[in-house]
Amino acid sequence: MEEKHSNSKLLHTPYPKPDAYKALSMPVYHSAAYEFESAEQMELAFTGKAADHTYSRITNPTVQYFEDRVRAITCAFSVTALNSGMAAISNTIITLAKSGSNIITSRHLFGNTYSFFASTLEAFGVEIRFCNLTNVDEVEAHIDANTCAVFLEIITNPQMEVVDLKAISAVAKQKGVPIIADTTIVPFCAFKAKDFGINIEIVSSTKYISGGATSLGGLIIDYCNFDWLSSPKLHVMAKEFGPAAFTAKLRKEIHRNLGSYMTPHAAYMQTLGLETLSLRYERATSTCKQLVERLEKLPEIESVNYTGLHSNKFHDLSKEQFGSRPGAMFTFDLSSRDACFAFMNKLKLIKRATNLFDNKTLAIHPASTIFGTFTAEVRREMNVSDKTIRISVGLEDVDDLFSDIKHAIK
Ligand SMILES: *Cc1c(COP(=O)(O)O)cnc(C)c1O
Repeated sequence: MEEKHSNSKLLHTPYPKPDAYKALSMPVYHSAAYEFESAEQMELAFTGKAADHTYSRITNPTVQYFEDRVRAITCAFSVTALNSGMAAISNTIITLAKSGSNIITSRHLFGNTYSFFASTLEAFGVEIRFCNLTNVDEVEAHIDANTCAVFLEIITNPQMEVVDLKAISAVAKQKGVPIIADTTIVPFCAFKAKDFGINIEIVSSTKYISGGATSLGGLIIDYCNFDWLSSPKLHVMAKEFGPAAFTAKLRKEIHRNLGSYMTPHAAYMQTLGLETLSLRYERATSTCKQLVERLEKLPEIESVNYTGLHSNKFHDLSKEQFGSRPGAMFTFDLSSRDACFAFMNKLKLIKRATNLFDNKTLAIHPASTIFGTFTAEVRREMNVSDKTIRISVGLEDVDDLFSDIKHAIK
C-alpha cells in the first residue's frame, strides 16, 4: 500500500501493544506503576536497556499512544506530552538553558510565557533578550556564544504579528542556535513547522487538539534537525546522542525531575480530539474568515486584525506560511475601553471566557484580563491595547455569530 495521508495515518496508528479485548479505543491505563517478571527485567527497564514502563511520571501506555499519533502525523523524531502548554515551554527551556545563557525572543508573547521568561527564568541567571523578531538583522545582532535558543510564536496574540520563519531560521542556523516555536495558533494539520526550519515545536494541546476545551495539555515536538554540538548546555550530550541530544536530555532527566507528564485521562481525551482536529480546524477557520470579512464593513469597528485579510500588513507572509485561513482567532478595535466593556456585556451567544479554540466562540478583553496585572507601561511595550477585543471562533453558524457581534457593538 502507498504511504497513507495524515488523517488515515492518525486514525490507524497501531497501539503500543495489542489490546487483550480488541478494544477499538485505546484503554486508559490509570496505573502509577508496573509489575516485573524478574529482578533482571527490572534492571533492564530502570537502566533504559528495555522499553518497559516503570512509573507513570516517566512514561504511560495511554500517553505514549497519544504521543505516537502526534508523531505519525508530524513525522517528528520524538513527541513528549505534558500536562499543559506552559509545562511544555518550561521543560523545553530548562532542557536548553543554564545560568549565564541567554534566550532571544520578543515581548509579543502569551502572558504566562512572558512572565516565565521575565520573572521565573531571570531569577535563575538566564538572560532574556527581547527584540523585534520581524527584524532579522536585530535578531542576528543579539545572538552570541551564550545564546541557547530563539523562541517565537508563529502568530502572536493579541498583536497578530507574523515572523518570517525561513529568514529567521536561516540566520539562527548559520549562528548555530535552535529555533523553538510555539505553534498553538496554527496546528500541525495546517502548518508544517519542519519545512520552515523550526527545530523544536511547542503546542498547547489545551486549545485545538483537546477537542472542545476538555483538558489541559502541552506537546514538545522534536524534529531532530539541529546539531546540538553548538549548544552551550547540550554539547556534551551531543557527542553521545548526536541530533537526538535534546530528546535524550529531556526524557532521561528534565521531564522526570520536573514531574509534569500528561495524565492518562487527558491523553485519552486528547487522542479523541486529535481524530477530529483537521475537520474542526477547517470549519472554524472557514467561519472565522467569513466573519472577519463581514465585520470589516461595520462602521463601529475601527479595525479588524486577522492575518488572512488582504488589508493586513502580514497577509502575504501569512499566506505563504499558513495558507489562506491562518487560525480561528482574530481581534478588533473599538473606540475605547468603555466601548469594549459595553460590547462584552451585551453578548448573548458568544461566551465571555479566556481560552482559544473551544467548540464555542469566546470573547475576551485582553488588556483587563490576561494582561490585567501588568503595568500600563508593560502593556504598552507588549503592544496590548485597551481598545482591543479578542475572538476565538468555534463551530457555530456564521450568521448567528455575526448577529451577536453586530447587536453587541450597537
Ligand atoms: C494557551 C497558550 C499557552 C499555554 O498553554 P496552557 O495549556 O494554558 O498551559 C502557550 N502559548 C499559547 C500561544 C497559548 O495560546
